[in-house]
Amino acid sequence: MTTTEQYTDGMASNMLDDETHSMSERARRHLWMHFSSMSNYSDEFEVPIMVRGEGAYVYDSRGKRYLDGLSGLFTSQLGHGRTDLAEAAAHQAGQLGYFPLWTYAHPPAIDLAERIAGIAPGDLNRVFFTTGGSEAVESAWKLARQYHRLMGDHGRYKVISRDIAYHGTTMGALTITSVIPYRTPFEPLVPGAIKVPNTNFYRAREHGDDATDFSVWSADQIEDALLREGPETVAAVFLEPVQNAGGCFTPPPGYFQRVREICDRYGVLLVSDEVICAFGRLGEWFGSTKYDYVPDMITCAKGLTSGYAPLGALIVNDKVAAPFFEQNNTFLHGITFAGHPVSCAVALKNIQIFEDEKILEHVRGKEGYFKERLESLLDLPIVGDIRGTGYFWGIELVRDQGSKETFHGEDAERLLRGFLSPELFRRGLICRSDDRGDPVVQIAPPLICDTEEIDFIVDTLHSVLAEATNHL
Ligand code: PLP
Repeated sequence: MTTTEQYTDGMASNMLDDETHSMSERARRHLWMHFSSMSNYSDEFEVPIMVRGEGAYVYDSRGKRYLDGLSGLFTSQLGHGRTDLAEAAAHQAGQLGYFPLWTYAHPPAIDLAERIAGIAPGDLNRVFFTTGGSEAVESAWKLARQYHRLMGDHGRYKVISRDIAYHGTTMGALTITSVIPYRTPFEPLVPGAIKVPNTNFYRAREHGDDATDFSVWSADQIEDALLREGPETVAAVFLEPVQNAGGCFTPPPGYFQRVREICDRYGVLLVSDEVICAFGRLGEWFGSTKYDYVPDMITCAKGLTSGYAPLGALIVNDKVAAPFFEQNNTFLHGITFAGHPVSCAVALKNIQIFEDEKILEHVRGKEGYFKERLESLLDLPIVGDIRGTGYFWGIELVRDQGSKETFHGEDAERLLRGFLSPELFRRGLICRSDDRGDPVVQIAPPLICDTEEIDFIVDTLHSVLAEATNHL
């Protein structure tokens, strides 16, 4: 490098520093980041600003590269910087930039609804679009309630969901969400929320190693709750195929089959909340397909467009849709931007790319390698459990592998936010350290990731978690 180049490089990086500092300052002054303690940002701890992405990587305002180990927020299935998705959006914006689905239809929404019905399980043939996941969940609860009324079942309004589960933040969705600190400031919430245990097999001591026994017990918790409340008061059960919050709780064998039977026995609708688990995250179009059950409704969003445009959907089976197609019955619900033509065009292109590039096959082909590499972390005393499937994994951290003693309060805070999150970020890996349940690190990279990226993720985690062990 010549002296002039060095000088110019120095100038450029100084400019980047100044620009970043000013952007961070303006963000602190005017932008409200979600779920963020705004007072934590300071001159010493700048707001992280991402400016571009390419494949599995994103780059910050100083040009530093990070592997996006969380796909943004479980969203960027095809990775970043894809011009084919950008072109699909631009083309549709030039054709018909906006028109509502209130009374009218437009070609991208029609094509997408048909496409989704084609890949959805069973007879889930009807698609109600939203702009994201919370709205899909909110819409599902409202639809369930109106469905029961139309069927003459006026008493069914309650909803069952599992401990620690996250289903969104609008008032209805928040009521279904079970993360207590997220709920408390907004109480009283919508009446009728019933909570049951989740499928955390790692901590289900009373069932020993018998996953089948645990499965029956877990499903029966739903039946017990129904009988306690009176089944004639319950509208729906909301479950994720793999529960995210708490750290990737997979269902024990036969769990969903038993839940399906219980729902059918008591006339309760089964909603599979697949806002994370659909569109390849588990190696299938839908998580319910992976676990071989057919729900009455599926909620999805995120990976539907790989994040290139906002879109969510509620997919409904023929039974639930039927009464809305009789007489003058109307689902009295709508959202201005739901099923936006640009978002639908992007989703159509996204699905086409999944097929052309065999993304589902790729995830299924690589998940064994991913699992095996992650399980190598169990040689660290701080790693208690590795769980998940596809490209969706949780690593539970413990004080002691044998007793499974966890980290509480201040200790968890110091470990996760004081050390792990900043250190992983410093080393160029974005993932999530989470203590909505027991402390976990979560990994859900773009589905295009291959051996090289998986190795980087696991090697970085190994080295940082080993260091965390030394810090304790
Ligand atoms: N449901 C589940 C299972 C989710 O994981 C999320 C978000 O992470 C939501 C619903 C809410 O989706 P959104 O943030 O798009 O409103």
